[in-house]
Amino acid sequence: MATAKLNLNRQQALGVLAASVASFGVPSLILAADKPRGRKMILSFYCDDTSPSVAGVKAFQDFLDFCAEHNIAGESTCLLGSSGHSLCRNSNEQEQAFLDQVKRAWKCGIDTHMELMTHRGLFDCDANRETEGGVHEGLWLHEPAIAVAQCERYFGNIIAEGQRAGIQFTGLTWPGCGCAACTARYAALRAGGRGKPNPAMWQALLNLARQGKFRGRTVPCFFDSNEKVGAIHKKASEGPFGVYDLMPNAMDHFGIWENNPARVNADYYLSTDGKSGIIVRHL
Ligand SMILES: [Zn+2]
Ligand SMILES: [Zn+2]
Repeated sequence: MATAKLNLNRQQALGVLAASVASFGVPSLILAADKPRGRKMILSFYCDDTSPSVAGVKAFQDFLDFCAEHNIAGESTCLLGSSGHSLCRNSNEQEQAFLDQVKRAWKCGIDTHMELMTHRGLFDCDANRETEGGVHEGLWLHEPAIAVAQCERYFGNIIAEGQRAGIQFTGLTWPGCGCAACTARYAALRAGGRGKPNPAMWQALLNLARQGKFRGRTVPCFFDSNEKVGAIHKKASEGPFGVYDLMPNAMDHFGIWENNPARVNADYYLSTDGKSGIIVRHL
């Protein structure tokens, strides 16, 4: 949207944003550094951890209805193995209803990202179950010893699971985890100067994009975040194919994954008088 200074209250300012901007879930503001001034996407959301088991299918359906009605574009992750087995095999009624909504998402303006398969331990596709006691998926993407071929096989298996149900992924969102094992290992990696994701991951995504495994030729990812330097970062590319980290520059103050009212703070985005908040700072 145009970057002229806003002098509106929150309700009016949000009206302007809704009319001009895209996307919904975990909030993130994105400044596309390579776009001409005045054509910046300033607000984007992603909705992660989507599965039928916590809020039920109806919640996701309502979310899609809302996005479609208000012309909101964004992404929502789909965890095909969050209940310990693949939702795409022998689905029960509830699971099938959820998959039907995921298939509908694209038409409602919502991309589908893999937040890997389980958001916990690595998934064993042959056995159709999560590997017990194994490394968690988000951390695994940071392990320096993992090779491109391993990443490509793992992502490829998830894409193939989606195909069983007619679901196509557009990108990848990092499954964050604060468990004791992940926290300790992340700290050790950071202390050794290896806190970034393993570059093999970006290359594996690029390889899969070149094989036509994703919806488009470019693969959007939500990985890193930073309130000051959020932007779009190219991670790997070849010809018309590319992998990008759409680094959010706002945090989640909508209750986080706990759905906790104490973690809701609209002023963080825009104060009631419309004069402060991270949206104003970025404008
Ligand atoms: Zn998540
Ligand atoms: Zn963990």
